[in-house]
Amino acid sequence: MNNQMTPAMRQYYEAKQEYPDALIFFRMGDFYESFGEDAKTIARELEITLTARGKDKSGERMPLAGIPYHAIDTYLPRLINKGYNVAICEQLENPKQAKGVVKRGVVRVVTPGTAIDSSMFSDASNNYLMAVAGRESGKSGKGGNGDKNGKSGKGGKSDKNPGEMELGVSFLDISTGEFLTTQFRDSENFEKLMSELARMHPAECILPPSLYGNPELAGRLRDQTIVHEFAPELSEPGEAGEMLKKHFGITTLEGMGCENLEFAVYSAWAALEYAKTTQMRDLAHINTLRTYSNSEFMVLDAITLRNLEIVKNVRDGGNENSLFKVLDSTKTPMGSRALKKWLLKPLLSVELINRRLDAVEELAGDALLRYDIRDWLSEVRDIERLVGRIVYGNSNARDLVALKKSLTAVVPVRDCLLEKTDSKLLEEIGKELAAFSELETLAELIEKGIADEAPLTVREGGMIKKGYNEELDELRDIASNSKQWIAAFQQKEREKSGIKSLKVGYNKVFGYYIEVTNANRAQVPEDYIRKQTMTNAERFFTPELKEKESLILSANEKAVALEYEIFTKITKTVAGYSRELQQTAESTGTLDVLANLAEASENNNYVRPQLTEDCKILIRDGRHPVVENTVPGGFVPNDTEMDCKEKQFLLVTGPNMAGKSTYMRQSALIAIMAQAGSFVPASHASIGTVDQVFTRIGAFDDLASGQSTFMVEMVELANILNNASSKSLVLLDEIGRGTSTYDGYSIAKAVVEYLHNRGKVGVRALFATHYHQLTALEEKLKRVKNYHIAVKEEGHELVFLRKIVPGATDRSYGIQVARLAGVPEKVIDRANEILKELERENLLEEAEEGENGKRKKGKAATRYTQMLLFDPGSGGGTQAQANRQSPVEVALKKLNVDDMTPLEAMNKLHELKKLLG
Ligand code: ADP
Ligand code: MG
Repeated sequence: MNNQMTPAMRQYYEAKQEYPDALIFFRMGDFYESFGEDAKTIARELEITLTARGKDKSGERMPLAGIPYHAIDTYLPRLINKGYNVAICEQLENPKQAKGVVKRGVVRVVTPGTAIDSSMFSDASNNYLMAVAGRESGKSGKGGNGDKNGKSGKGGKSDKNPGEMELGVSFLDISTGEFLTTQFRDSENFEKLMSELARMHPAECILPPSLYGNPELAGRLRDQTIVHEFAPELSEPGEAGEMLKKHFGITTLEGMGCENLEFAVYSAWAALEYAKTTQMRDLAHINTLRTYSNSEFMVLDAITLRNLEIVKNVRDGGNENSLFKVLDSTKTPMGSRALKKWLLKPLLSVELINRRLDAVEELAGDALLRYDIRDWLSEVRDIERLVGRIVYGNSNARDLVALKKSLTAVVPVRDCLLEKTDSKLLEEIGKELAAFSELETLAELIEKGIADEAPLTVREGGMIKKGYNEELDELRDIASNSKQWIAAFQQKEREKSGIKSLKVGYNKVFGYYIEVTNANRAQVPEDYIRKQTMTNAERFFTPELKEKESLILSANEKAVALEYEIFTKITKTVAGYSRELQQTAESTGTLDVLANLAEASENNNYVRPQLTEDCKILIRDGRHPVVENTVPGGFVPNDTEMDCKEKQFLLVTGPNMAGKSTYMRQSALIAIMAQAGSFVPASHASIGTVDQVFTRIGAFDDLASGQSTFMVEMVELANILNNASSKSLVLLDEIGRGTSTYDGYSIAKAVVEYLHNRGKVGVRALFATHYHQLTALEEKLKRVKNYHIAVKEEGHELVFLRKIVPGATDRSYGIQVARLAGVPEKVIDRANEILKELERENLLEEAEEGENGKRKKGKAATRYTQMLLFDPGSGGGTQAQANRQSPVEVALKKLNVDDMTPLEAMNKLHELKKLLG
């Protein structure tokens, strides 16, 4: 390094060398400065001024950008959210006391997945770091396509399919201490990994070099989150298990359930080590690791989460109009996080679901109890994150006060649960809360010690209550007595000098002074020593004042230091209960969700669903939980009846806008709600548990997301056909719409046949289609049942009745793309056969003609005017509403103007005009 460099610059370069991948925030006085390339990046990203000064290594002027230290909460999240890591380099000693240059060092590296500062979080949601570990298994070994029934289709996927990996994955939220791990056992695990990713929505993902180098896996992860490579010391699992045991202070991982899960353990260790190295401290509040298995939960992949708008809407990715938003009136951040988890991971076990439902039922039935509990809960703050900060060591007195208030509110909740509730889960929560026997003591400790109106900083005093510590009270007395002394001194000096306006004051830089205005300068006594000259006045001191000053200041200083000491001690005591506090937080969160679901049930007129192990689904008067709140004319309820004998495959037809998509989605949403433990929007519901919901929403409805191509549709379809089981529920909405009529129809038909015959028992499916010719399949396939959504013609207009009734009612290179996407060969072959037949015999046209006989073709568009009942501009609305286009727009888009004669154009214009009218 250049000898000309200032010592501070040398420190900076040292930090940069140690953390080459991070931007360095280098503390200099009241600023975090950045230099060189970092400065350019920061100036650009934060839109702050770039300056230059001094010389860099090569003697050039050094670019410089700085932010005031107190503004770090505003600027840091912006950089992190853009994917940068930031290393915070602090002054490690008090500059006033430092000899020579102030010691500096990096105190932590902030990365998206390891954020702990509350300013980094926009809401109560979890902030996960995800770590993946795994190995590509031998190319031979396992069967190709992962067809659960053991039939491996030919030519579906290429050899380098990333599905062929053993993978372990862990999620760590260091702000709450939550730590989860799992391992995927079978060969579809890559898709499973992607659905975990979609559910958990991690802020950052770290990968070992072997996986980081895998373009397909890393690429798909990168589409969803910020991806970093493991640090070199984590690139081998080595003693991962031993290290984890050491951290948790246990001798076996058996109790955590991951003893034999090599990659689960490796990924968990990597996540923990990454968190520790970036935070540079021992993360003691991370004190359990929970192993979960995907077989405990209904699988909802990324596509389904999106299509069903479980926690986010399709339109802008916000939670407006999502299922979560409709249900969420939780009172605590823990409750809000837990509700999200429940909806993202519905249960499979009827027994566990009923435990939740029993509790919801009890709370729904007892309005008073529910009201009280929710009222108390509204006083409870984010205990998990408070504990996180307290253990981590960056809490302040207000955090302790918030914790105290929370604990105080938990007391009546606990007592009430123990005394007044019957359901098992509520009782259990009561017991869990009661297990923390020191809860009140801890609240009392904070109550006695910490002032309610404490400042944000911990270094300026004002945190500790009077009466808590004798020494502190004495020091404070000296300081406050001195106020009287100063008042008396001022009086004495006024009399002595005869200057009536003489004032004794204090400021931080100059300390205590006697101020005399210029007008009275002549009267200044001789023993006054000049201190500072102002425009209108002169400031002085006397030896007596000086002496008192040092007494006061040292008492003050001592008091502030002592306060900090006491605060730290209380904090440590609290931190000692981190496990109990986290349990309290979790129990409170669970209770909050239950009470919330009870409240939602009462407010929205839901019923308790029955859960069964068979494959029947019976919903009476089902409603779409979101659409029912947005439809101005009132929502028309509908039944859904499915079994595995006759009504396994419901073929739903009906004109565009009839309500097919809504109907299918509501059926799936009701199943999801039921298995999450919620009551459901229906008058009766009995649900044979669903292991996975698959959805494919056709190209037409996808337009709004702007990413629909026929290829995407076929990839999604392939996944469904390859992975759906007899316990799954499949929603296929307008399959084949993205291609020509012949192709689309052929694929649709082949898909129906395939799913119906799949594994002999078939798959439960709801299939909405505009290919009404498909309804002929009811005759041929015994478990297919036709339904349509009733409409009524009134003159030219079509009135949508929105009622589903049994029976049938009255459009490409798609097959090739379907094959590319991995749709099973069987389906492709069959689709081709059908297509040939059609092309030879022109059957499709005939079929269409036959059923549509009496209706003139060109009129199709006019039939849909009634749908505008629902004003598309009236805010809110479903995906369908967002996507809805006016008939005129639809007709206009279809026009091929270049091919029209002037006469045709005139006629068309006429038609369009009529459409408007
Ligand atoms: P399709 O899929 O048949 O084209 P959608 O399911 O998209 O029709 O429904 C179109 C619109 O009709 C929805 O946005 C909603 O406003 C309204 N709608 C659907 N189902 C109902 C219902 N059961 N009751 C009232 N309005 C409904
Ligand atoms: Mg639709």
